[in-house]
Amino acid sequence: MYNAKAYSAASATSPLASSVIERRDPTGKDVQIEILFCGVCHSDLHTARNEWREVFPTMYPCVPGHEIVGRVTKVGSDVTKFKVGDLAAVGCLVKTDGTCPECQAGLEQFCHNMTLTYNSPDAHTGKVTYGGYSDSIVVDQHFVLHVPKNLDLAATAPLLCAGITTWSPLRHWGVTKGKKVGIVGLGGLGHMGVKFAHALGAHTVVFTTSPGKTEDALRLGADEVVVSRNPEEMAKHIASFDFILDCVSADHDINAYIQLLKRDGNLTLVGAPEKPLQVAAFGLLFGRHSLSGSPIGGIAETQEMLDFCGEHNITADVEVIPIQKINEAYERLLKSDVKYRFSIDMASLKSE
Ligand code: NAP
Ligand code: ZN
Repeated sequence: MYNAKAYSAASATSPLASSVIERRDPTGKDVQIEILFCGVCHSDLHTARNEWREVFPTMYPCVPGHEIVGRVTKVGSDVTKFKVGDLAAVGCLVKTDGTCPECQAGLEQFCHNMTLTYNSPDAHTGKVTYGGYSDSIVVDQHFVLHVPKNLDLAATAPLLCAGITTWSPLRHWGVTKGKKVGIVGLGGLGHMGVKFAHALGAHTVVFTTSPGKTEDALRLGADEVVVSRNPEEMAKHIASFDFILDCVSADHDINAYIQLLKRDGNLTLVGAPEKPLQVAAFGLLFGRHSLSGSPIGGIAETQEMLDFCGEHNITADVEVIPIQKINEAYERLLKSDVKYRFSIDMASLKSE
């Protein structure tokens, strides 16, 4: 074991603060990474504040962060995928059983025995897993990704969650040229959804509650922008979408979007609000609409997404912050005031 610097929450109501955590020494297939940047996902906030207590109660201290990019500093003797000095990235998963049908199919995100990057029981330490708001992490090589060399590192970190979480359902539901696709909520996930839907050739429509984001949405790749609080603008799109990706972090009316689907259209939720959403049966019946959800993505698919980003020069639009600004960043997330992902420069942790 060794000591690592981190920022952690001691309870649901305490701000994140500087702390020291224990990490395991890298052995076997482990890769030790010096963390250079870590994106700030709204899930970090939901977890730090125990907003998902009914499904995933938070174990404290909680060190969030699952959008990790850094450099390999040490490898175990059985590591074949990485060498010291390589760029490396880690997303939301650090362990699965590897033997169930989901893992065998490369769909680790559905394994029933998964260990998340933070807030999961840690089989190595007997404590809880600690995420990327830290100066280092140790992860089995299977869950460590290669980073394309041409991409900016601060802007690459968010691909590890916001990127894969939007990429996976867009691919699964066959988003391509000729499809009309809606992206609801222009935050961290939403802005990646727009970039990917556009890059995949779809006619992309952004739904936002923030009229001030219209120009950005067009710049990010949207063909049209709808201010969702305007019923007339919404009505123009009734029964016209093949697919809608809902990236909203808070309570909202999803029935308003279900009615915008074509026959057999699908709305997939990736947003995970604290409270259950109300669904009107008739909105689904008429039109044979379907409503589904999607969690992150598998490891092979995450690498595929990163490689696609390397080839197409796609990264997140980030506001780089020092770790000392993390509590302020959380308050700004709650006000939809982020363009469009905070990325923590982990060099700022050295002064703690
Ligand atoms: P974020 O950056 O805070 O973006 C959320 C966006 O939702 C906001 O920018 C805003 O967009 C919209 N919004 C916020 N409050 C709203 C309200 N009351 N009504 C309507 N729209 C509202 O969050 P994020 O990091 O992208 O995460 C979004 C959600 O996805 C979170 O719940 C997160 O936990 C979840 N998530 C799920 C997965 C998964 O595996 N499925 C992975 C990562 C994150 P506008 O200003 O454009 O309206
Ligand atoms: Zn996330």
